[in-house]
Amino acid sequence: MTEPIDSLPRPQTITAAYGVVSDTAFGAVAPPLYLSSTFEFAGYDEPRIYDYGRAGNPNRELLGDALAKLEGGAGAVVTSSGMSALDLLVGRHRPDDLILAPHDCYGGTMRLLKARADLGHCSVRFVDQSNKGAFEAALEEVPALVLIESPSNPLMRVVDIADLAREARAAGAAIAVDNTFLSPAIQRPIELGADYVIHSTTKYLNGHSDVIGGAVVAADPAQVEQLRYWANVVGSAGAPFDAWLTLRGLRTLFPRMEQQQINAMIVANFLEKHPAVAKVHYPGLASHPGHAIASRQQRGFGAMLSFELHGGVPAVRHFISAVQFFTLAESLGGVESLVAHPATMTHADMGEEARATAGISDSLLRLSVGLEAEQDLVAGLEAGLAACSG
Ligand code: PLP
Repeated sequence: MTEPIDSLPRPQTITAAYGVVSDTAFGAVAPPLYLSSTFEFAGYDEPRIYDYGRAGNPNRELLGDALAKLEGGAGAVVTSSGMSALDLLVGRHRPDDLILAPHDCYGGTMRLLKARADLGHCSVRFVDQSNKGAFEAALEEVPALVLIESPSNPLMRVVDIADLAREARAAGAAIAVDNTFLSPAIQRPIELGADYVIHSTTKYLNGHSDVIGGAVVAADPAQVEQLRYWANVVGSAGAPFDAWLTLRGLRTLFPRMEQQQINAMIVANFLEKHPAVAKVHYPGLASHPGHAIASRQQRGFGAMLSFELHGGVPAVRHFISAVQFFTLAESLGGVESLVAHPATMTHADMGEEARATAGISDSLLRLSVGLEAEQDLVAGLEAGLAACSG
């Protein structure tokens, strides 16, 4: 049966073609880049659609609209980084508002929430959201916002978003999901009950490791307006060129994600069988505790994984100096493969105690699996693992 035309365009069509031929001046197929910081008024008290670049810009608008459509939201605000996207939500709270966040969230997210709480802008509680009892006990403190990260960074813990969202809503909280690790090609949190989706567009959405950017998508049009208002008040808007590049990167989101997650599965299977590896965290593996939930709530398992080495820090050092085709660098989601050591890199600021509570050991390495040939990736990892014992 053919689908009714009003259910179109499909997400793949949005990524490939949203904003194509939107240029009214020359019919340019690729959307033009509007760098202008300001826009002429048509006359006295007659602003056009855009008046000033902090408040609005056509390239940001195009990217935000595409992201909102992909996430099934009412609109989106494009910001200068993933952190400024998160802060756009967090910064609106009052001192007595509680924010409930995962105990194993991205280190920068934890740093931001703690820094805001230290200044008395809100209070924050970190809880193991995969522990139902602990989550429900925390809800009794009546949080204003529940932040979810699934899969979590870097341990790839998966929580049942629909279940947590239902409980959080019943407790009167708004729900925000950081969807950076999967992108809307694989997971759509608003369908699962979220009010907001946060992205570091730096990662899969742009996909080429050449932009720092972020976005908040809101399900409710009134909240989109609120977020727009605050983004203009605090000046957290992303740059037009970054939005232009990100929309260009977004064009290939689906084929990138598809191939990268195929490569990640191959890498995960290889690592799981290797004697130098103590544990692999990848929701695509049947051995992963979140496999069943991930199979249900995701359209794939993504291209991020982490693993623990036997032999502690010395093994990590040997691995890092011998591994090939995985560059030692923070960030993720680009077409090139990266390896990170969370304890000394992405999650260093969390501190030893919080890392221990979250289960992030010094033996843990995180991989962002790219588009290289699978044989090269496996051979590159084999070179690192062979060196582990010194
Ligand atoms: N959320 C997650 C899950 C991340 O991994 C990151 C960065 O690594 C961020 C948010 C922050 O994004 P950005 O670096 O664009 O500020």
